[in-house]
This record gives sequence, C-alpha cells and structure tokens, in this order.
Amino acid sequence: MQIAGMNFVITGAGAGIGAGTARLAASHGARVMLSDANDANGEAVAEGIRAEGGTACYQHCDVSDEAQVQALMQAAAEQLGGIDVLHNNAGIHESMLGGGLSLENMSRATFDKVMAINVTGVWLCAKYALPWLRQSSQASIINAGSTSSITGYPNCVAYGSSKGAVMQMTKMLAVDLAPDGIRVNCYCPGSIHTKMVDDFLAAAPDQKAMLNTMTMTHLIPRMGQPQDVAELVCFLASPAASFINGAVWLIDGGSLAWRGTLDVLGMGERV
Ligand code: NAP
Repeated sequence: MQIAGMNFVITGAGAGIGAGTARLAASHGARVMLSDANDANGEAVAEGIRAEGGTACYQHCDVSDEAQVQALMQAAAEQLGGIDVLHNNAGIHESMLGGGLSLENMSRATFDKVMAINVTGVWLCAKYALPWLRQSSQASIINAGSTSSITGYPNCVAYGSSKGAVMQMTKMLAVDLAPDGIRVNCYCPGSIHTKMVDDFLAAAPDQKAMLNTMTMTHLIPRMGQPQDVAELVCFLASPAASFINGAVWLIDGGSLAWRGTLDVLGMGERV
C-alpha cells in the first residue's frame, strides 16, 4: 500500500467506514489521528489500533464546529508531526435524526444539520488542514461522496443534495489546491453495511422494498463492507495514486452500471 509513515486525519472514525479505514491505514504503518463526535467509540477504536501495535491517537471533533475542527488539525499536526492525508469521512443521513423525511414533513433544522455536517464540515476540515497539507510532499484530501451524489433515492433529499455538493467541492478544491501539489478525490459507495444503513432501513416505511432498492442493484450480490471502502481510501492516499486528482470513484458493487435488479439475472430473489 506504500502508506507507511504517512499521517492520516480521519473524521467520524469511531464507527463504520471511518473506523475501518483507520484500522487498515494503521495496519499498513500509517500514523492515524482519529476523531469523532462520539468519544466512547472513537477512543475505543484508537485503543484497539494501539493494542495491535499501530500508531493512533484520538481527538473529539464535531466537524460542523469550526473551533473543534481547528483544534483537531492543530492536535494532529502536533501529535503526528504533520498531516499528509485528510479523510473527510464524517457524515449523517436525515433518517438518523428522527422526524419526517418527505419534503413537507422534514424540518428546516434537520435539513440544515445534514448540510452543516456533510458539506460545511468537509469545507472546514479542508480549510484548517491546509497549512499542514501544504508542507507535505504527498498530500491529499479524500472525501466521502455516495451513489446519491449521482443518482436519486427516495426520502434522501438532504443527504443526496449534500453528497452532490461534496462531489462538486472535490473538483473545485482539486483545481484550487493543484498549485500546492495537494490531490483531492472523492469516492461514492453503494450500500455499505454500517449503522448508517441500518438506521436508514429502520426508518423506511417499507423496509423490504428499501433493502431491495439498496442491494438488488449490486452486480456483486452483497452489501459492501467498511473494509472494501477502506482499501480504496488507502490506495487513493498512496503514491500509487499520484496521477489521480479531482476524480470521483464509484465503489458500488456495479449498481450504477445498469438499470436492473439481480432477479433479472437469476442471481437473487427479492426478499
Ligand atoms: P456511521 O456508521 O454512521 O459512522 C459515522 C461516524 O461519524 C459515527 O461514529 C458518528 O458518530 C460520526 N459522526 C456523526 N456526526 C458527526 C459529526 N458531526 N462530526 C464528527 N463525527 C460525526 O456511517 P458510515 O456508514 O460509516 O458512513 C461514513 C461516511 O460514508 C458518511 O459520510 C456517509 O455519508 C458515507 N457513505 C456511507 C454509505 C453506506 O452505505 N454506509 C454509502 C455512501 C456513503 P455517532 O455514533 O454519534 O453517530
């Protein structure tokens, strides 16, 4: 993977894809600053990495809080000795906040909160990591998009709008930071089995129909796992990806490659 000795900052690293990336990066010899809004989970993941012999520290950070983001980047630079990779992973879906999901039922507060974390948080983290990324000869920012950056889903207007913005911000920052030698890429996962997906399913009016929508389009007939995405993030951070910039990487089991569901191919039955 060629990421040994690189310094990673990962937001939302207490669970799911962020935790998986922190573990994988550390297992390849990277030094990792984990951060999360949930301290118990974040501390536990960092402790687990250290117990395996990896280098990991933890700092609380709600990515929508400017002062906390600034403090995170300062702490990462001091404790790791610099920042090479910013993994903007933290994100939420409106289904995790309770309340209505339709246009008429969702509150303004819910819409604003999704935007504050998923969009403003990415921008804030890039802004405050920049002084240290500029000092790195292998700097990159890796943003969590989604297939909903690209296509529509039911009951996802805040989330999908936010992830569309993340995809476009990736390209804008890749342009603006090119003179600094900082690469900026994003990836768009299909359904990855994490708490976010479990919460989304639980909030769906028809859970079986939603599970079909999420997984029966995967040409690889399973949900993704956090490790699948972690492998891509570590690759994008590595020198092997040094000519990849401003790119949008689908990691969706093939779901956006076609318009069918697996029953058409005799590969699965609707649940
Ligand atoms: P997850 O399992 O819910 O984990 C996200 C982590 O971020 C949790 O530890 C959560 O803490 C934390 N978090 C929530 N709000 C935060 C904030 N304001 N500041 C910092 N941390 C915060 O989610 P995931 O499925 O791993 O998703 C990670 C990223 O991948 C997200 O950006 C998501 O949109 C994207 N993504 C996921 C999927 C998927 O299928 N899972 C698909 C496409 C894209 P709590 O314990 O407090 O919730």
